[in-house]
Amino acid sequence: MKVLFPHLAEFRIDGVRVAGPVVRIEAGTLGGEVACPGCGVVSDRVHSRYHRQLLDTAVASRETLIRLRVRRLFCVNSDCGRKTFAEQMPGLAARHARRSTVLDRVLQAVALAVACWCAADPASGGRGQSDDFAAADPRVA
Ligand SMILES: [Zn+2]
Repeated sequence: MKVLFPHLAEFRIDGVRVAGPVVRIEAGTLGGEVACPGCGVVSDRVHSRYHRQLLDTAVASRETLIRLRVRRLFCVNSDCGRKTFAEQMPGLAARHARRSTVLDRVLQAVALAVACWCAADPASGGRGQSDDFAAADPRVA
């Protein structure tokens, strides 16, 4: 799993299922104390749990969905304006994101390559030479 999904190394994998054209990964955070983003005081007092669903890079041409169980914690600092806060997922997804950070990077690389490809030969109406993709961005092979 860590070879295919290194961005999930810091999470607990509860299951992987293939359902037609979709790979579904059930995962969760490892627990423990988390620093409140408002005051920095750590807490492990669980308020509730909820699920986030993230679109991830494809596996064997199948769409990949990560269903991640996340905790909402109480801030234990009575002086803090936040009463609760959600665990964040550094390395996996930005706050409120619906795609993994890895998928975002792939999409940005593709968008950059297409933009460079179209700009390289505007007279062709965006139909540049196929070699232009590799020349536009070395990350795209
Ligand atoms: Zn706080």
